[in-house]
Amino acid sequence: MAEDPDKMKVEQSDMSITEDRDVKMSQAPIMALSAYELAQKIREQKVTSEEAVSAVLKNIDEHECDVHAYLSFWKEEALAQARKCDEMVRESTDVSTLPPLLGVPVAIKDNLLLRGKRSTCGSKMLKDYIPPFSATCVEKLVAAGAIVIGKTNMDEFGMGASTEHSYFGATRHPEDPDRVPGGSSGGSAAAVAYGGASAALGTDTGGSIRQPAAFCGLVGLRPTYGSVSRHGLVAFASSMDTAGPITRGSVDAAMLFNIVNGADPKDQTSISAPKVDISAMENYDVKGKLIGIPKQLLREDTSYDRSGVSSRTMNRAREFFVKNGAKVEEIDMPILDFAVAIYYILSSAEASSNLSRYDGIRYGYRSGQASDISELYTKTRSEGFGKEVKRRILLGNYVLSSEHFDDCYRQAERARNMVKKAFDEAFSKYDFLLCPTAPGVAPKQGEIDKDPLAAYIADLCTVPASLLGTPAISVPFGRAEGLPVGIQLMGPRFGEQEILGAARFVEKALASDIDGDISFETQTMNQKGGTDS
Ligand code: GLN
Repeated sequence: MAEDPDKMKVEQSDMSITEDRDVKMSQAPIMALSAYELAQKIREQKVTSEEAVSAVLKNIDEHECDVHAYLSFWKEEALAQARKCDEMVRESTDVSTLPPLLGVPVAIKDNLLLRGKRSTCGSKMLKDYIPPFSATCVEKLVAAGAIVIGKTNMDEFGMGASTEHSYFGATRHPEDPDRVPGGSSGGSAAAVAYGGASAALGTDTGGSIRQPAAFCGLVGLRPTYGSVSRHGLVAFASSMDTAGPITRGSVDAAMLFNIVNGADPKDQTSISAPKVDISAMENYDVKGKLIGIPKQLLREDTSYDRSGVSSRTMNRAREFFVKNGAKVEEIDMPILDFAVAIYYILSSAEASSNLSRYDGIRYGYRSGQASDISELYTKTRSEGFGKEVKRRILLGNYVLSSEHFDDCYRQAERARNMVKKAFDEAFSKYDFLLCPTAPGVAPKQGEIDKDPLAAYIADLCTVPASLLGTPAISVPFGRAEGLPVGIQLMGPRFGEQEILGAARFVEKALASDIDGDISFETQTMNQKGGTDS
C-alpha cells in the first residue's frame, strides 16, 4: 500500500520560537518543578507562565523528533495564552483567588476533545476531525488556568498497551528509543517524562493511564469511574472509560483530580467524588495499615518479564511497607484468573457497538472507492480502522452474536459481578490492595505486536480496577534493568484519599530514602538478566 501522506504528518503551528524572547530562567529548573509548585511560583511571580511554556516548547523542539509524543501542538497560541496569564497575575490584587493551575502547560490525550483542535484518537478514521466542543474534563482544566500545549499520541481509539497502534506512527520511550512508553496514553506519559508538559490527562479503560505512567517513571491515577465526566471522551468501552492525570508526583495527581472531578449534566453516569485533601496526604502514614496483595496478580509467566522484575519489585514493596509499620497479607482471589478474559470480552463488545458509528456517512473518513452504500460501509471501515481495532470489533461482534451471547457476554457479566464481590470483601478488611502495575519494564518496540494474546495477558494487574470502577494509582518504585518500574495501589470506590496518601508516603520515603536499604537495580539495558544489585 502506498504511504498515506497524512500518516506521518504532525500538526505543528508556529514552529519557530523567536530567539529574542526574554527567558529569565533556564528551562531545567522550571521543568524540575511539579505542576503544583509551578502554579505557586507563577502566582508569586517568581516564574512567569511565558518562561514555563517556553521551557516546555524548547523540550518539545529537542525531543519530539525522537519520541513523537504529540500529534499536534501550537506554539504561538500557547505563548500568547501564557502572556495573558502573566498579565492576570500582575494585575491581581489577591493572587489566592486566581485559578489553581494558572499558566501551567499541560498535554491532553488525543481522544479528549478540545474545541477547534484536530482530535484523531490515533486513527485514520478521525484524521481530519475538528470537534465543535471540548470534553468537560478539558474545559475544567482550561477553566483552572492550564494552558493546553497539544494533543498526545495514543493507540488507535485507546486499544493497545504500547502506543504503537497509532495511525500516525509509534511513540518511543523517552529514556530508550528502542522501547515503547506503554499505552494507550503513551504520548501523554512520554510528554510529561521528557518535560514536554508539566502534567497531562490520559484515559484508562483497562490500564492506559497506569501502565504508561509506570513505564515512564510517573504517577498515573485512574479515578473512581464516573467521578470524571466522559462527555467529550471518545468512547471505547463506556462502562470502563475514565479520564485521569499522568503527573510527576502524587500531589499533582491529586490537584488535577480535584479539578476534573465532578458530576456533569452531560454525562448521566457522572458523580462527584469527595475532593482529596492534599495537606492530609502529607500527614499520611502507612504505620498500622492493613495491606492485601491478591496472589493471582503475582503471576510470573508473562513474556515481557522474563527476568522476574515484577516479583523482585513486589518483594521490595512488601519489605518497604512492613518496615514502615504496615501489616501485609497475601489474599486468594481465584476469580482474578478470569479477569483478563472478562475484560476483553466486555470491552470488545462495548467497542464494537461504540465504533459502529464510524460508517463514512456522518463524520470521519469516507472511502472514495465505493459504488454503492454497502460497499461504502465496508470500504470505509476496512480502510479507516487499523489492525488492532478490527480485531476488537471482530471479537466484540463474536461475543454479541446470538450464538455466543449467553455463553460469552452474559457469562462475562456474571463473572464481573463475582470480581466485584471478591473485591468488596477485600476492601472491607484491607486499607488498600497492592500489586505490580505491569509485568517487567517497558518492552522493546515491536515486541507487543508479535503476540497480541500475550499483550492482553500483560494487562492482568490493571483490568480488575477497570471492571470494578474503583480508583487505582501507579506510583514509581525505583528502577530495574535501567528503567522505571511502578507499583499499583487499589482502593474502594471513592477511596482516592487513601491511595493518594499512601502514594505520597511512598514517594517521600523513596526521595529521602528513610528506609535506607531498599536496593534498586541500576544496571543499564546492556546488562541482560536483570539481577538485583
Ligand atoms: N491495554 C488495554 C486494551 O488494549 C487497555 C487500554 C485502555 O485502557 N485504553 O484494551
